[in-house]
Amino acid sequence: MTLSALPIPVEPPAPPRPALHQIAARQAERARLPDGGIDIDRLLALVSATYTETDVDRRRSDRANRLMAEELEVALAKSALQNLRFKAALDNMNQGLALFDAAGHLVLTNQRFLDIYGLNQATPGSTLDEVLRSSPYLSVSTASEHRRLVKEYDGAASAYGAKIEQRWPDGRTITIERTRLVDGGFLDTVADVTEARNASAQIAHLARHDALTDLPNRTLLRERLDEMMRNARRGDRCAMLCLDLDRFKLVNDTLGHPIGDALLVAVAERLVSLVRHHDVVARLGGDEFSILVQHVTSDHAIEQLCRRIIDELTQPFEIAGHHIQIGASIGVETVEVDSLDPDTMLRDADLALYRAKSGGRGNYCFYTPDMHVFATRRRELEIELRRALKSEEFEVHYQPQIEIGSHAVVGFEALARWYHPERGIVPPNDFITVCEEIGLIGAVGEFVLMRSCRDAACWPESVKIAVNLSALQFKSGTLPAMVARALRVSGLDPRRLELEITESAMLEDTAGVIKQLRELKRLGVLISLDDFGTGYSSLSHIRNFPFDRVKIDQSFVRDLGTNSDSLAIVRAVTGLCGSLGIMSTAEGVETLDQLNILVAEKCDSAQGYYFSRPVPLADTLPFVSRMLALQSRAA
Ligand code: C2E
Ligand code: CA
Ligand code: CA
Repeated sequence: MTLSALPIPVEPPAPPRPALHQIAARQAERARLPDGGIDIDRLLALVSATYTETDVDRRRSDRANRLMAEELEVALAKSALQNLRFKAALDNMNQGLALFDAAGHLVLTNQRFLDIYGLNQATPGSTLDEVLRSSPYLSVSTASEHRRLVKEYDGAASAYGAKIEQRWPDGRTITIERTRLVDGGFLDTVADVTEARNASAQIAHLARHDALTDLPNRTLLRERLDEMMRNARRGDRCAMLCLDLDRFKLVNDTLGHPIGDALLVAVAERLVSLVRHHDVVARLGGDEFSILVQHVTSDHAIEQLCRRIIDELTQPFEIAGHHIQIGASIGVETVEVDSLDPDTMLRDADLALYRAKSGGRGNYCFYTPDMHVFATRRRELEIELRRALKSEEFEVHYQPQIEIGSHAVVGFEALARWYHPERGIVPPNDFITVCEEIGLIGAVGEFVLMRSCRDAACWPESVKIAVNLSALQFKSGTLPAMVARALRVSGLDPRRLELEITESAMLEDTAGVIKQLRELKRLGVLISLDDFGTGYSSLSHIRNFPFDRVKIDQSFVRDLGTNSDSLAIVRAVTGLCGSLGIMSTAEGVETLDQLNILVAEKCDSAQGYYFSRPVPLADTLPFVSRMLALQSRAA
């Protein structure tokens, strides 16, 4: 029997060893003894160290988790805040916003949208029509009006980016604009622009109306003219009236600007009441008004209107307890609307007004082409006058004043002359008024005063010099100083200087003029009231100021012997002067008959062609001598 035949006992297979965790395998490896056994203590130490490490790791990861959680919390809080901020921003926007999705359903609105439409809420998911249907502001209007507004709003959808503007039944003006979004939805922006529109409407109104009277101003008048021209029918005529108030300045100066303003408002009301509704009454500034009359049937109709306007404005106004009497002058231009040029029309009416005023107050005048020639000549005159002053073309002539009883020369009146290089001697009536209008009267007046004081200083002591003053020379308030300078420079005795003023100087700013007259009297000069009897002839002027002399206007002297009224006036004036101790001088004495009447009426002195025309300086002393010789011969 062989051993190999013996059956070898077979060990049962060992149960499969559980696979070691790689850390444990590594630790077992490191604890293995050289004989293949395991150093249990070392293994335990290794395992324990690993647990300690794991603990540290877990704690670390716990802390990291905590930190992450905290950060997440902060981030979430932040985003909630952002949302809040976003919502607040949306709600506080000036514009209302409504966001719709691609299917046209509401996603969100801001508070301003709800406010504008007067809604408590707008349910997400509803359609635009449903949202708007609940708006009380839109439903107060009639059903059709409501439909129109909603349709108009929705219409904005078809024109993305096009802003529509709606005037709501409650008077508000709302703009709506639709913007398309990338997801197919849309955002509607709604704004209440009522205030802005009102403000711009107000500004537009102010720019076209006169602030005081609320009448159209020049700009609106021009627009109305353009409008009329566009709509004119063939042969249609219109008229432009330019109107200026008489004596308005006097009211402003004496009663003050508030009363002047109130008067202008009252005038505007009267004017508006006198025209038809399609005519345009405009205020062009100051006391200048204009009226555009449409569909004019005849010149006669316009004449009647002018007369009505003048009559109506001449009726007294009662303003703040003042009884105010003014008047009006009117210039008219009528044209066919087809051939109308607004600038020319206004200018022509203005020229006609100028003519109306020069013919006395309370007149109306129609434009004629010769006025244009006149205006051109006047412009030339203005240019020439300015040149004349620079190149010393002015001169002074002197007209003697004779004492009626003795025939002695008691003075000369200084009268300005213009030696025009081509036209020869130009009389003052042809240039003094223009000088007043273009502001040259101060310089011309000063020249005459300086020159005549200098000339008079060479005459005998008994001979005075009378110098005319324009009312406008009182405006600057420097007149007394100028007179004092003339006296100083010439060395003339102030008692030999007489200043002649007309009643018109007393009309405006009476107190201011009287103050200056008193200053002049303090200088020692004499003051005469010129042209008495013409103009306003209020005896109160004689009472208001102690004049030294009254000069009876030549119009009365001319009529002496033919007109009993003139004699009565001359008699009244000489009588009054006699009793008040004022000297009287008659102007324009041309005949012996006139002189004899003046002797009988006890007039103090006389002046006129009967004695002498105004003469150049060189002829003055010879005239004085001739009169002296006459006197001694008579004696
Ligand atoms: P006025 O002050 O009434 O002067 C009298 C005017 O009557 C003068 O006219 C004189 O030449 C004229 N005259 C004198 N005697 C007679 C007469 O017997 N018959 C007629 N028909 N006329 C006579 P003139 O020189 O043409 O002056 C006209 C007006 O011009 C003056 O009227 C005066 O208002 C104004 N004027 C003249 N020089 C000046 C001046 O230097 N300054 C101002 N502000 N005005 C002046
Ligand atoms: Ca005079
Ligand atoms: Ca006079």
